[in-house]
Amino acid sequence: MPVDPRAILQQTFGFSDFRGVQARVIDRVLAGQRTLAVMPTGAGKSLCYQLPAVALPGTCIVISPLIALMHDQLRAATAIGIRAAALTSADDNRAETIARFRAGELDLLYAAPERASGESFRALLQQAPVALFAIDEAHCVSEWGHDFRPDYRLLRPLLDAFPAVPRLALTATADAHTRADILVQLGLPDDGLIVAGFDRPNIRYAISPRQGTTQQIAGLLRDHPGPGIVYAQTRSGTEKLAAALAATGRPVRPYHAGLDPAVRARNQADFVASEDMVMVATVAFGMGIDKPDVRFVAHAGLPKSIEAYYQETGRAGRDGDPAVAHLFWGAEDFARARQRIAEVEPDRQGSERARLDALGALVETAGCRRRILLRHFGEEPGERCGNCDNCLNPPAAIDATQVARKFLSA
Ligand code: ADP
Ligand code: MG
Repeated sequence: MPVDPRAILQQTFGFSDFRGVQARVIDRVLAGQRTLAVMPTGAGKSLCYQLPAVALPGTCIVISPLIALMHDQLRAATAIGIRAAALTSADDNRAETIARFRAGELDLLYAAPERASGESFRALLQQAPVALFAIDEAHCVSEWGHDFRPDYRLLRPLLDAFPAVPRLALTATADAHTRADILVQLGLPDDGLIVAGFDRPNIRYAISPRQGTTQQIAGLLRDHPGPGIVYAQTRSGTEKLAAALAATGRPVRPYHAGLDPAVRARNQADFVASEDMVMVATVAFGMGIDKPDVRFVAHAGLPKSIEAYYQETGRAGRDGDPAVAHLFWGAEDFARARQRIAEVEPDRQGSERARLDALGALVETAGCRRRILLRHFGEEPGERCGNCDNCLNPPAAIDATQVARKFLSA
């Protein structure tokens, strides 16, 4: 009987449609093709292996690095009728889980990498059909990634012991080095990479040279009455800018790691509850803060990298309503960055320089900002997004041929 992924999507998961690249990823998995799916957090990576787990005969083995995460997923899967269990050091119904796997009664079996890489686990998998290996948080396999876990390196022999079983690696890490490394480490083909879902169409990107930062950002505050975040580069910079912006009449608070913890916690709580507050912060602010109605994110100086820029601007407009990301930069930001690069270890300078050049291309382009951003992450969007400063107000191009002609005819 042919599998109908859409019917399973609706009947088992209760969703009407696939989102983004889910359908493409699932088609590949059902066709037995090894795949690396790079999708941002919240894009719905779990469905990409949970649906095949339901559709295919045999058990889908899910490698996941965090026991807490695993148990959340287990609860959610069980709640919609998926037959799922976990083998971790924290599980006491081990014997029962093993018996269910052997009897072919599990759609999903979650395992921590340290368990999955062991001899006994491999022997177990030889006792019943395995439908799929899903390696969640696959960046953990790479030393380039931000969360390298040596246990992930030990998975390869397990995977290779079952060469006919399809592999699906999943991560939100967009960095090209890490991605390439994941393909190599897990034995996935170059053409098995699917990257998508990084676009945040409701965010309008704008980038301007600095000409009196305080005034420029005060203007942004006037145009956008909702909650906003202004990123400054130093602790003292946040305090100064916060004090200056208070003159706009908006509630403004500073936030940085040097503040008294009680003050910091209060500022953060007030911001989350507020409908018009502006937080002037270092990049320490924002991690794990869930405020969907942030209407603008401003950068008073160059961010660290395109990845950092994407992550920081991504805190705007999580509710899907229009939001603005405005970056103000100066030539001295680049000069300072170049100086910093000159001071790092020689073998790291190349990649740091590439990172800076990518930022340079983004700020200096006369073309679509979103296109540069998404192409950096491996997506191939259209020429113009229609929702960035350059698409909305194309910079007057200096037509060199015309200038030359005028000069010659004079
Ligand atoms: P990720 O692992 O990529 O961060 P999750 O797999 O945790 O994302 O999914 C995020 C949320 O999106 C979950 O609540 C999930 O139920 C929901 N979701 C996934 N796919 C769909 C879909 N096709 N339609 C609607 N909601 C979806
Ligand atoms: Mg996930």
